Amino acid sequence: MRATLLFQAGDVRVEDVADPRIQQPTDAVIRIVTGCVCGSDLWPYKSQPLTDTPRQMGHEFIGVVEETGTEVKSFKPGDLVVVPFTYSDGTCDNCRRGLTTSCAHGGPWGVGGVDGGQGEAARIPFADGTLVKLPVGEDSELLPDLLTLSDVLCTGYHAARTAGVKAGDSVTVIGDGAVGLSAVISAKLLGAERIILMGRHTKRTDLGREFGATDVVAGRGQDGVAAVRELTGGTGTDRVLECVGLKNALVQATGVVRDGGVISRVGAPQYPEVPFGFPEFLRNITLTGGVAPSRAYIEELMPHILNGDIHPGRVFDRTVALDDVAEGYRLMNDREALKVLIRP
Ligand SMILES: [Zn+2]
Repeated sequence: MRATLLFQAGDVRVEDVADPRIQQPTDAVIRIVTGCVCGSDLWPYKSQPLTDTPRQMGHEFIGVVEETGTEVKSFKPGDLVVVPFTYSDGTCDNCRRGLTTSCAHGGPWGVGGVDGGQGEAARIPFADGTLVKLPVGEDSELLPDLLTLSDVLCTGYHAARTAGVKAGDSVTVIGDGAVGLSAVISAKLLGAERIILMGRHTKRTDLGREFGATDVVAGRGQDGVAAVRELTGGTGTDRVLECVGLKNALVQATGVVRDGGVISRVGAPQYPEVPFGFPEFLRNITLTGGVAPSRAYIEELMPHILNGDIHPGRVFDRTVALDDVAEGYRLMNDREALKVLIRP
């Protein structure tokens, strides 16, 4: 089969790899119907050194079950399924507590003999624990919306949930990428009254307004902090959802959160040390967040998509064929595209 391989920074190719096959009785093999490029794929795309064993890319995908191992009980060939961005057994202590990203037997896609999601097919370890069935056909126009359940929508939702967003709250979302826009959707779902989106790409912040942002602040750093403080009568917002992953964004978060407030960071941190010291201690600020256990949120969020309450798939503004995936990476890396959908 054809799959997306990253050889080194800037060098993404679609090449032939071994066809997936059932290796364990708990495996399934799926034919991939659609996938996409994630903002987090851009970090290795920018930085990976040359390697002899290229990495199989992609961790957000929807597919049709083609074959199941003898112990798979919940799925049969022909089922359309969404795949969360890590696989998990669904039975260990961490999975039962909803922390599927800490599964005792789980792991990420594309490493250690596991396929990636930007290809024609994939072996799915622990199919019963990992996959979620989609109650639509593979030609459904909801597929882009449902694909966001793999990662971005659940990651934005994780930010809002771990920050404790509740009815009437004021919330600042930092970052106008696909996760930031998903955090806006999620804050609104949880009843936030005021949602201030910090971002400077007008096309993206316009979409953020349609998703529920009540205010947009384009300024960054001290200017941005001052603008949010002015909008909130000097106090800052109850919750801050940091969806960037850079140190400056976290510093900005501490600037716009109110005393006693909560910051949740779901942008994969690209910094080793957290600037969270005595001043934040004096202000009783809580810092939470982390990698989103997306598998644990899929059933909760899917009805909102099926009902038409939310349209998170609007974050996809370009579609490429699998063979053109390198162009998809370039478009996202050069910020010509917000998020790129892949059709194999
Ligand atoms: Zn587990």
